[in-house]
Amino acid sequence: MRTLYVKFTVITLTIFIVSSFLAFFIANAYYQKSLKPYNDEKITNFALSITEFIEEHPDLNLSSYLDTIASIGYQIYLIDESGEDTFFGAPFRKVNLEEATKEYVLDGNIYHGIINFPSELFVTGFFANELKNSIGAPFNHDDTTYGLFLRPDIKLLFNEARFLLAWTLLFTVVLSIVLFAFSMVYLVKPISKLTQATKLLAEGDYHVEIASGRKDELGELSRSFSRMANQLEKMEDFRKEFISNISHDIQSPLSNIKGYTNLLENDSISKEEKEQYLGIIQNETHRLSSLTKQLLLLASLDRTDDMMDKKPFNIGEQLKELVRNHQWQAGEKGIMMSYVLPDDIEIIGDPSLLNTVWDNLLMNAIKYNKPNGTVEISVEKKGNSVFVTFKDTGIGLSEKEVERIFERFYRADTARSRTIEGTGLGLSIAWTIIKLHGGQINVQSKENEGSTFTVELPVG
Ligand code: ADP
Repeated sequence: MRTLYVKFTVITLTIFIVSSFLAFFIANAYYQKSLKPYNDEKITNFALSITEFIEEHPDLNLSSYLDTIASIGYQIYLIDESGEDTFFGAPFRKVNLEEATKEYVLDGNIYHGIINFPSELFVTGFFANELKNSIGAPFNHDDTTYGLFLRPDIKLLFNEARFLLAWTLLFTVVLSIVLFAFSMVYLVKPISKLTQATKLLAEGDYHVEIASGRKDELGELSRSFSRMANQLEKMEDFRKEFISNISHDIQSPLSNIKGYTNLLENDSISKEEKEQYLGIIQNETHRLSSLTKQLLLLASLDRTDDMMDKKPFNIGEQLKELVRNHQWQAGEKGIMMSYVLPDDIEIIGDPSLLNTVWDNLLMNAIKYNKPNGTVEISVEKKGNSVFVTFKDTGIGLSEKEVERIFERFYRADTARSRTIEGTGLGLSIAWTIIKLHGGQINVQSKENEGSTFTVELPVG
């Protein structure tokens, strides 16, 4: 089946038809089991009360009395012992009474034609307008023996009710089909909208709006879809920005290298110039190398956290080692480094990845410091957390800059940063590593006064 709409319609109509048939057969079984004996008994009693009444009233005009009975809704067949017969009321469709039956009644017996009528479907059973489908009772009148056969005139009794019932049924069926068809449109419409939106999304159009005020599952599906489209759009923007940043950061050192290599080819340059150009080429190569290293690290951190090699280690010792390694850089800028690094704090984590974090934070504290500034490093254990703090007296950051420094490639205040080497990836790598360890990084900073980066890590 092609569409959901057709599917729903066919399934519901099938259920409708099957249940109608089932209801019909159950009603039929009920008729055969209960209603048929009850009808037989009821009509027998009525026939007997008629015959009794006739016998009790010998002066009665038999044919006008039977006419009256017929007019209230009965079909009557009367036969006397000489074989003369008369019909009262509506005609029987089939006059199929056997001679033996007539004899049987005239001999004084009661004939139960209704209960013994063949067990066909109740429409043909209950409504079968046949003389055989009647009750026969004998009586005496004017010294003559009669056989009275009678059955209710269903047509007369049910004529109006039957039409009413038939029309109601027909209207119910037609109305339910029409209403059902409309309700299916309501049900299926959001799905068609979603399909349309999915196609647009696949073609790269992320501005799909499928507003739905519905509170059901389909409404929820539409809202989730809109959220997903927004998310995809953000990711796509991010991807484009990321690629353009990488291209720019790779392109500029490459063109520098190319430019200075060309200059080196010139034989007329002095020894000093040659050394200067080689120095620039070396720096740019170093920049490219650290950029690719950082990119590789970011990509591997994004892929999975399985690569982490977690083990217990002494964080104080690790930081002391780090300070020793950067002492000369700080000394070059006249920066004083002080620290409070207790020897007894152990945490469980990946020492190599965490070292990358400390390295970046300390390098930034030195790089973005003022000449003759200070850097304070401390480790402190509070409850189940360890706090590592890097406090500098550097250029600081504005509130807006603080909000963005963990974004990939973001470098605050480009005019000042331009003179300082960097890729804008260090803090986003640090942030990812700390998140992988279940910790967080907080920044407090004031422009021109300095910044404090605090890393909170769980001990275990
Ligand atoms: P970068 O390679 O540029 O240092 P980071 O991701 O480490 O990249 O830092 C992002 C930006 O955040 C830096 O370019 C700098 O503008 C700002 N920043 C980082 N640390 C400090 C700090 N201690 N003081 C002032 N600004 C900082």
